[in-house]
Parts: sequence; C-alpha cells; structure tokens
Amino acid sequence: MKYETQILTTPYQQPDVYGALSMPVYYTAAFEFPSAKAMSDAFCGRSMAPSYSRIANPTTTYLEERVRKLTGAVSVTALNTGMAAIAYALTCVSAAGLNIVASKHLFGNSVSLLRDTLGSLGIETRFADFTDAEAVQSLIDDKTCALFFEIITNPQLLVADIRALAQIAHQAGCPLIADTTIVPFSVFRAKDLGVDIEIVSSTKYISGGGTGLGGLLIDYGQFDWSQSPSPVLQNKTRRVGKKMAFTARVKTELLTNLGALMTPQAAYMETLGLDTLDIRFKRQAGTTLWLAQQCQHLDGIKKVNYTGLADNPFHELSDRQFGPLPGAVFTIDLASREAAFSFIDNLHVIRRATNLFDRKSLAIHPASTIFGLFTDEQRQEMSVSDATVRISVGLEDGEDLFEDIRQAIQ
Ligand SMILES: *Cc1c(COP(=O)(O)O)cnc(C)c1O
Repeated sequence: MKYETQILTTPYQQPDVYGALSMPVYYTAAFEFPSAKAMSDAFCGRSMAPSYSRIANPTTTYLEERVRKLTGAVSVTALNTGMAAIAYALTCVSAAGLNIVASKHLFGNSVSLLRDTLGSLGIETRFADFTDAEAVQSLIDDKTCALFFEIITNPQLLVADIRALAQIAHQAGCPLIADTTIVPFSVFRAKDLGVDIEIVSSTKYISGGGTGLGGLLIDYGQFDWSQSPSPVLQNKTRRVGKKMAFTARVKTELLTNLGALMTPQAAYMETLGLDTLDIRFKRQAGTTLWLAQQCQHLDGIKKVNYTGLADNPFHELSDRQFGPLPGAVFTIDLASREAAFSFIDNLHVIRRATNLFDRKSLAIHPASTIFGLFTDEQRQEMSVSDATVRISVGLEDGEDLFEDIRQAIQ
C-alpha cells in the first residue's frame, strides 16, 4: 500500500461494539476486570489488557500503533509534549557520571534540559556543531551514552549528515537519538539513515495543525543496548534482550514513575491529525518553497534561508535526506532587530505566534522570544541572529501570503 492509504488503515486493537468509524475516546482512569486472575495478569504484564491510564489507554495505544506501523518501529510511546519525549529518551539512556554529546544548535528548552536539569543530576553534556562530524567524534569517550541532535536545526536551518553521524555513533557503541520534528515521517525515513531513537514533537504537524501538545518517542529496535555504559540498561539487556532494553525501561519504569503518557483526548486529536498529515505537509511545504523563492527577489530582505532552495549551502545534503520539500518553515534576515520587529508588526495575514506547522501561517522573532532569556554571547554561539524572522507556513493561499510579506517589508 502507498503511504496515503496506509495512513488511514490501521484497525483498532479490538473492534468497537458500535462499529465507530473514528477511534472512541476512552475517558477513564481505570479499567475493570472479570476476575482477580485477569487483574493480576494485566498488572504483571502477562496480558495486554490496560489497567490504569497512566500506563496505557486504548485511544493512546491506537495512536502509538498507527505511528509504529507507519514508521516501521518496534515500539512507540506517546507522551504529553515533545519535551516529555526528549526528557524520557535522554533520561532512559543516561546515568550520573555518564555524558551526552549533543548539538549546540538545539531547541532552547532542550539546551536547558541538558545543561540545567540533567546537569544537576550529574549527567554531563558536551555540545558540538553536528555539521562537523570530526568535532562530534572528538568529544566521545567511554562514558558517552548517546548522541543527540536535530535533523534540521531551528532557526538556523543547519543540516547534519545523518548517515555519517550514525556511523560515528555506532562505532563508539552509542545510540543516535534524533529530534525529527521539522520533517514528518510521511516523507523522511529516520530508520533508513541509521537513527536508533526518533523524537517528534507531535504538537507540530501531527496534532492536525496546532490543536494541542504531544510528543512521540519512537524506538527502531536496531541498537544493541549491551554496549550502553548505563548500568540500568545493562541490567535490562540481561532480562529482555539486547534490542528491547530501551523500550522496556520506558514502558515499565519511566511511564509509571514519571507519568506523562499522552491523554486520550490529545491522542484522539492526533489520530485525526495523522489522517491528513501527508496532504497538509505536501501543501504547506510546497507553498514554503514557492514563498522562499519569491522572497529572494524582494528588496529589503538580506537573506532567505530554506534548505529546499537550490543555492542553499545544505541543499544537496538536504535533498538527499529529506527530498525536495524539507519542511514548512523558512527564515528571512532583515537589516536589523528594529526592521524585524517592524516587519512582524505590519503583518495582517501571518499571525504573531510561536509554534510550527499550524494550519495558519505564523511569524516570530526567535532571538527575542524562544532565545530571549539567553545572553548575547550564548545566542551568538548558537547562531541565533537578531535580524532573523522565522515564518511557519500554513494552508492559506501562497499568493496571499506573499502579498502580506511584500507589504510588510515595504
Ligand atoms: C516544539 C519543539 C520541541 C518541543 O515540543 P513541545 O511539544 O512544545 O514540548 C522540541 N523540538 C523541536 C525541534 C520543536 O520544534
């Protein structure tokens, strides 16, 4: 089956008694059992029956199952936010005394999670430019438990060579963990390029265009966790085998103890979002490429950044990894911070809001918002420029969007 068909055809775990065509939302905390034995089997993992919605809920399980089928993963865990998915992944692989080698061009909260939260627990992070494979390699040692990066960084739009990183990671016995939020799995196959653990903020494309928050933690079951320096994963390996240690820790320890499983309400919205993911992405990304091309001819814009543009320094690598439409976000550089503010204030169709891949187009000045609490020096180190405006492209007509940009530039 083609992707467009496959995306609509995953059956429910059990047929609905009323034959509901949409997955019902199971608004319940607990589940009732026919016997004490059945209850014990569910609680001890001897049956798949759900016991309590912190650990599993049928509506959430259905979303996980659909994503698992679409990506070819062995296991998917749906969480309440993208940050929860990142926190779970990095907590799962690490331990006090170990280190993570991470990109220095990350989503702002990911930087803070690594530096402040995990840092306070005795987990060190070594930041590197992930477009420089040698720089990454030079930071790895026998206490390195993972490599973590974003496939296209935001807002810099730098592209890492994923196969090269996978090779470095695997030679060193480390899993490659990728935040792939910027290009959805309908067009980008993380598994084929050697990614072991994929993280998606499903708040973005998958929610159906900004209907709510969500995160997906996807395990391809390809990494041999007996190589991990984490004593917990070593231990798990002995019990569940080399390939399933990560998922076993997530499902039996982290979900129960950290408690951030996606709610059934959010999972329902996300299953609706999945239905239209492919068609929305193609349209939004198609408009993005066209808009970026048009903006290159506008006086007043110093630089247009989108890796789908033929003259972008990452174009060839981006095209090889993500195809001709690498996401539905681009940036423009204006003369100054004042020019960027004035441009944003004069937009009428494009909304002043954060978020990516809403159905509506959104503009933001990253340096003063998402990165507003970092120092000038830190922003410079992360290549977040004061002159940059980020535009996330929605489902509006492309010509109307271009006219809005043109008049605001004027
Ligand atoms: C939005 C985003 C996140 C965080 O996701 P939330 O769902 O907001 O927690 C992480 N990484 C990237 C690349 C993002 O765009």
